[in-house]
Amino acid sequence: MEKIKLGQSDLEVSRLALGCMRLAGVDLEKAKEVIKTSLDLGINFFDHADIYGGGQSEVLFGQAIKELGVKREDIIIQSKCGIRRGFFDFSKDYILESVDGILERLQTDYLDVLVLHRPDALLEPEEVAEAFNVLKASGKVRHFGLSNVNSYQIELLQSYLEEPLLVNQLQLSIAHTPMIDAGLQVNMLTDGGVNRDGSVLDYCRLKKITIQTWSPFLIALDKGTFFGHPDYAELNAELEALATEKGVAPETIAIAWILRHPAKMQAIIGSMTPERLENVAKACDVILTRQEWYKLYLSAGNILP
Ligand code: NAP
Repeated sequence: MEKIKLGQSDLEVSRLALGCMRLAGVDLEKAKEVIKTSLDLGINFFDHADIYGGGQSEVLFGQAIKELGVKREDIIIQSKCGIRRGFFDFSKDYILESVDGILERLQTDYLDVLVLHRPDALLEPEEVAEAFNVLKASGKVRHFGLSNVNSYQIELLQSYLEEPLLVNQLQLSIAHTPMIDAGLQVNMLTDGGVNRDGSVLDYCRLKKITIQTWSPFLIALDKGTFFGHPDYAELNAELEALATEKGVAPETIAIAWILRHPAKMQAIIGSMTPERLENVAKACDVILTRQEWYKLYLSAGNILP
């Protein structure tokens, strides 16, 4: 599997990551199978959050890794904190407390990357910087990143930090493309032309921050996948046609569409089905042409100026 450097670090990460949000929905044996399949496919990066399954995803992962005999240094583990019930919390004490809980559940001494999950309106950058310094000095966290943030939110926090933020985790699928729409529909009176996120895609490229794309198969978390969805008949037909032509599965094409973007994003795959993971891993070998990429984009109902 193709590897990329994560942000400005030397971490060599697989283009595809296993998203462990849905791990809590399977039992230990299935979790082991999914993790083993991922490792066999060359996936070395695992994305967690303290809230996935109320912590159960991290517990299962820690146990599975132990039983599979995986060496800690052979995998890259990222987790997130900052979302609490009914509010967001980037306070120093909460970040420190959260990391201790994460490490305990994962049965590990360190996180490769800690990500702050969703912007806290009451952010005090000095406090976050203090928390990061403590975590770095203690060896509990090696690198830091953000999730669901816009350009100025990154710029603000970064100005208080000693080390570069490595990642911004953002929602992107062929059926959810606001960061791409805004760049294509500049100066238009269209909904897609609204620059909601401060050109976050271009900003991350400029600053060498890796965009990690979450929910690459979904319309939205509450709307399910676009595969087989009646509102996305044209997209499904286009995915099927390209898949048949290239001898792969439609899921392979959906991920190849994300990987084709020159920002070199890392796709976070949430599937808990080993056969699907095997199909998706082939996406690294499918390089879509410009015409194919744009045709898929348009088939999802998007417009061009
Ligand atoms: P996803 O990979 O887009 O969705 C996975 C789901 O789609 C699974 O339930 C999978 O079922 C189903 N699926 C895939 N192909 C399908 C098909 N052809 N037909 C029917 N169902 C299909 O994304 P996700 O799991 O929502 O998110 C991926 C990761 O992103 C998470 O694990 C998490 O690490 C991260 N995430 C981050 C944030 C954030 O705010 N930063 C938010 C959400 C998620 P199977 O299991 O059967 O394959």
